[in-house]
Amino acid sequence: MTERGKRFPLSLSSVVEKPAKSAQTPRASLNNVATPQTATKNAAQHLTRPSPVANAHTRSMPQPAVPVASQRPLVSDAIRAAMVARVAKQGVRDGKVLAAMEAVPRHMFVEPGLSGQAYVDASLPIGHHQTISQPYIVARMIEVMRDNGNGGELSRVLEIGTGCGYQAAVLSLVAKEVYSIERIKPLHELAKSNLRPLRIANIRLHYGDGMLGLPQAGPFDGIILAAAGLEVPRTLLEQMSVGGRLVAPVGERHQVLQLIERVSKFEWTNVTLEACHFVPLRPGVV
Ligand code: SAH
Repeated sequence: MTERGKRFPLSLSSVVEKPAKSAQTPRASLNNVATPQTATKNAAQHLTRPSPVANAHTRSMPQPAVPVASQRPLVSDAIRAAMVARVAKQGVRDGKVLAAMEAVPRHMFVEPGLSGQAYVDASLPIGHHQTISQPYIVARMIEVMRDNGNGGELSRVLEIGTGCGYQAAVLSLVAKEVYSIERIKPLHELAKSNLRPLRIANIRLHYGDGMLGLPQAGPFDGIILAAAGLEVPRTLLEQMSVGGRLVAPVGERHQVLQLIERVSKFEWTNVTLEACHFVPLRPGVV
């Protein structure tokens, strides 16, 4: 079921400049996606604003002397910094999380047609009726996971719901090892192709049912669910290390973000944090 060992570390030989990413998610299908995330509606308001102008590369890459013609709108470090400032204003205080958000080029995880909206505070469709989570909630979940009484040290974390791979990329900057599971094969492939050019060595992507966790790789000192179930699967609780933290949206129409902490071999505590809205957690693979 999983592809552990076969796919990672990402092969550098496969790092090539591709003119367009994600053959798996044709743009037409993206435009027709009905996403349950209300934040997506907010994004539409930004459509009428002028597109940001600057450079489409990561911070570490040299800036072109003159703007180059590109298939996607050009996005600057300043636009990303503004997104991070907004996330901080919304209450995220953890400097390491904010720095990670500032370092990851979010526009590289959305379709070229939507990259002008990559830095608005909204979830956006990524195909297959799924979404890239809004920047605030990505930062908030990681911040909560890091507030672990261990100075934020995270050796091994698990993400359920890779989607386009964005949150996994952010996690890779705050944890030593990141495991991420996706149940929709084309999205697993999309995440691989999105992450490949970033050459991140500490992410391991798995295709499978995340509700089963990844017992062979655990225990994990952090687990994040990027999709909402009616409850957190028991098997995931068993895969937490003592002192580990799991952050998950729970509910159907009305969802809340829950923090579960494993306080001993047989004890877990549970705190409800805030309202949220995620796509549903589903069993099996497609
Ligand atoms: N982490 C992503 C968010 C993706 S949306 C980001 O960075 O923005 C949530 C994802 O969870 C979807 O791709 C969906 O297919 C996936 N998902 C839902 N149920 C799942 C399951 N049981 N196992 C693995 N992935 C699941």
